[in-house]
Amino acid sequence: MERQLMNNIISVQNAIFSYPGNDIHVLNDISFDVSQGEWVAIIGHNGSGKSTLAKAIDGLLSLDSGQVVVDGLELNENTVWDVRSKIGFVFQNPDNQFVGATVADDVAFGLENRHVDHATMVAKVDEALKLVRMDKYADREPAGLSGGQKQRVALAGVIAMQPKIVILDEATSMLDPQGRQEVIELLHELKQRYKFTVLTITHDIDETALADRLFVIDDGSLISSGEPEKILSDSKMLLEKGLDLPLGEHIKHDLKELKIEVPEEYMNSSQVV
Ligand code: ADP
Repeated sequence: MERQLMNNIISVQNAIFSYPGNDIHVLNDISFDVSQGEWVAIIGHNGSGKSTLAKAIDGLLSLDSGQVVVDGLELNENTVWDVRSKIGFVFQNPDNQFVGATVADDVAFGLENRHVDHATMVAKVDEALKLVRMDKYADREPAGLSGGQKQRVALAGVIAMQPKIVILDEATSMLDPQGRQEVIELLHELKQRYKFTVLTITHDIDETALADRLFVIDDGSLISSGEPEKILSDSKMLLEKGLDLPLGEHIKHDLKELKIEVPEEYMNSSQVV
């Protein structure tokens, strides 16, 4: 009840979606709200429908039934471009999202499409690159950058467009631990500054720990939502759903108490798996 009184920037109601030629509901009557300025992390096993859900919110596919409302706009063919202009996306593979010959060209791409005048564009690109600490690389070719640097440039392209919502679809999963850390810290910093809403689809426990709420998606349904700490301590549910475990000592203890069969390497590891 309390949540309904808050300012919802994303509202998904009874969303059902199947890919053409397949009867399986990849989104299976899923409903939730996200408040303005909230950071929601979404986890779920491979193929559970996380990317499909993100695409449905961005209007990249249309639902069989149900409703998506973004910042007060009900998503349909008339509103799809307005909805998309409110959302910045960072995808998994840093190499697939470069469109510019140089770092600066790449960040400018979205602004050019919006027909922003040249002087404003140069200023916005410079500002965005400074924010992600990549201004010294403005004239470089993207190919020579590390994975973490590439994703920071992708974030600069998103920030330059001043979106209300930033969606990261496994955006750190191809990065080494340092690159992952760079991107997550930066995202946190930018969010403090611009107060945008964040949806992160992730396997990385560090990313979920920063979130206000964690959603667990299983076969197209939202099966659990709440404070990350609480959900991540439900090791029984996480294991049953084929999800990674944060293996702190207390969780190892829980597993023993619950008499859950856990592969030996999990119990011997002090790392997040
Ligand atoms: P996740 O992001 O959780 O890994 P996806 O949303 O990518 O899951 O996929 C959910 C299900 O939809 C999977 O079974 C996948 O094979 C199927 N799927 C994804 N994209 C397509 C597509 N373009 N055409 C047909 N089936 C798809």
